Amino acid sequence: MKRTRIKVYGVVQGVGFRPFVLKLARSLCLGGWVKNTSECVEIELIGSEERIKSFLQKLRSSHPPLARIVKIEIVSKRDCDEQENDFKILKSEKVETARKENLWIPPDVGTCDDCLRELFDPKDRRYRYPFINCTNCGPRFTIIISLPYDREKTTMRSFKMCEKCRSEYENPSDRRFHAQPNACPVCGPKLTLLDRRGGIISGDPLENAVKLLKEGKILAVKGLGGFHLAADALNSKAIEELRRRKNRPHKPFALMAFDLNRISKFVVLSEEEKEKISSPIRPIAILKKRKDSLLPESIAPNNKYLGFMLPYTPLHYLLTESFEALIMTSGNLSDEPIIYENEVALEKLKNIADFFLVHDRDIYTPCDDSIVINGSVVRRARGYTPLPLVGKENLPSILACGAEEKSSFALSRKNTIILSQYIGDLKDIEAFDRYRLLIERFKDLFGIEPRYAVCDLHPTYLSTRYAEGLNLPLLKVQHHHAHMASCMWENNLNEKVIGVILDGTGYGTDGTIWGGEILVGDYSEFERKGYIKPIPLPGGDKAIREPWRIALSYLYEIGKEDLIKEEKSKEVLKLLKLRINSPLSSGCGRLFDAVSAFLGLRREISYEAQAAIELEGIAYEDEKETYPLDLKDRNGKVVIDWKSMWIKLIEDVKKKTPVEICAMRFHNYLTESLSEAVKIISARTGIKKVVLSGGVFQNQIVLRRLRETLTKAGFKVYYHKEVPTNDQGIAVGQIVICASKIKKGEI
Ligand SMILES: [Zn+2]
Ligand SMILES: [Zn+2]
Repeated sequence: MKRTRIKVYGVVQGVGFRPFVLKLARSLCLGGWVKNTSECVEIELIGSEERIKSFLQKLRSSHPPLARIVKIEIVSKRDCDEQENDFKILKSEKVETARKENLWIPPDVGTCDDCLRELFDPKDRRYRYPFINCTNCGPRFTIIISLPYDREKTTMRSFKMCEKCRSEYENPSDRRFHAQPNACPVCGPKLTLLDRRGGIISGDPLENAVKLLKEGKILAVKGLGGFHLAADALNSKAIEELRRRKNRPHKPFALMAFDLNRISKFVVLSEEEKEKISSPIRPIAILKKRKDSLLPESIAPNNKYLGFMLPYTPLHYLLTESFEALIMTSGNLSDEPIIYENEVALEKLKNIADFFLVHDRDIYTPCDDSIVINGSVVRRARGYTPLPLVGKENLPSILACGAEEKSSFALSRKNTIILSQYIGDLKDIEAFDRYRLLIERFKDLFGIEPRYAVCDLHPTYLSTRYAEGLNLPLLKVQHHHAHMASCMWENNLNEKVIGVILDGTGYGTDGTIWGGEILVGDYSEFERKGYIKPIPLPGGDKAIREPWRIALSYLYEIGKEDLIKEEKSKEVLKLLKLRINSPLSSGCGRLFDAVSAFLGLRREISYEAQAAIELEGIAYEDEKETYPLDLKDRNGKVVIDWKSMWIKLIEDVKKKTPVEICAMRFHNYLTESLSEAVKIISARTGIKKVVLSGGVFQNQIVLRRLRETLTKAGFKVYYHKEVPTNDQGIAVGQIVICASKIKKGEI
């Protein structure tokens, strides 16, 4: 028999960790105890060495979804004689010497089953109370003002617990023992329904809100990390009105429905997707629309997916209960960050929302909903933030400033990277303000004083300018190298790899725009070994908003420009002929834009990547044929030439081949060209490991097909799961590149 004492560091409090430990220990017939201290969870295990070993293994491999173990420390280990079969949870212990570097902040946790039962139990004292929570669920990150996590250091400090709540809070055997946001209808936060001028609507706020939504009204609803704009998802008029007021003609709206049954009426859900969407993280899952779905097409026009989430607060349960589904889109003005304060909401959303369902529990740190697609996180925010990404090696203290669109930043601490939530496009002044506010807040909350800064190579990104003003040793990292490194680190790769990096825009080392790249390298260096043949973008940024211009540019290159019949064709051709305001781009996204525009799907876009998303949406996935591949060698680099592809595509269109077929043949062409290019580069370098990164890999056909063809050809293929493949993930790559240069003494 052994008696082993361990300390577990990381996000292990407020995420259901102790009950998990209790269950695990009992299942292994181990005796001992578990308790929270101010900086970790301490566990004592009594039992055979074998069982203790198996406990430690399971602790690492099957912990609760929101826990992140940063370090397990074995404090003592000794022989013991007495048999001990009882395992219990001990009273928490305050350690005065808690070091900030050991303190972590849990993310917000979706309503647990126990709280849900109470919510709908007429005999419970919290029956239909919109702010039910317990130690296993409720607000965390968004209400924490400082650490250690204690009620007095959250926005719940303005609510004094009633006697009943207090006794739960102080009873170690109660589910609400030390549940910091604990509340009830007597002592806790309350809802208020307001009209556009801030006037209070009398009556039950929740009942009235439901009634108004039923009438087709648009409501601003304050949730966990900010406001949503809500509308009845079956009411096309309300949706049209919301689109008009929000000035958002096509971009898909996210949906929320009461349970999986209701969601299943509208989308196809695999078992894994069911599990993901119901987890305490409660992300928006991008799911395939069902053909017989009754939801109006206007929710996500020309899109084969719908973004659905389950309720994650009691308030959301009470609201969605009465509807098949609700539109729940971020409460903001077009590109601005999510709104989270009552007064700001009333001011900014007064021309969008008819009414405001607000409450008096302040949100301290705003956080949008997260988005996952096929198990990969593409927008990391509520439910994930600020969970650390845990690596093997310790990192110096670095601030990574990220990119610009889909911006976020990251800080390193010990062997972890803390990636901020998705913030938005920094070109928007409010988003930039939010970005700066959050950097200061993260530094303060986690007690991190960065000693180095790292940013993108792009000279005019606001994140670059911000980094330059920091007065820290600064490293500038090429955009696609950062993408590659982020994927390598996430997958624990240390050796040289081939990186297929596909996105829209990134600043290249030669001053042109890159985005269809095959790189070879590791954390400290890279070489561009292949790329998609660049094309001029007539009008620069304007071409990105008007993909027909890019189609014209491609066709001009092959002498078929007369096939584009646009009012402004002549003008744009002039730009191309004279090479005025037509920067060169190898961006893979641009090739998608051009094909989508040429096929008549989308000549102008109203949201980022719309043309490409619609091209993916329409592709007939069973089509096997491809357009001709054409790889050229230029100074030892593989160039993917698209000329023969365009000629065949033009023929297809002349023959009236269905667009669905053309779209899929293009996808096949792209993935096969890339995989042929990888083979050539691998033959030259001997590298067999390939990482896939960049925003284009949100396209599930490209991701799946390229993984399939490369795996079949004998490559080990790695892609993103936890770190977004798009520009939100850039900051992670920046940190690991910077750390590697510091280690080599290059900074
Ligand atoms: Zn709960
Ligand atoms: Zn109470």
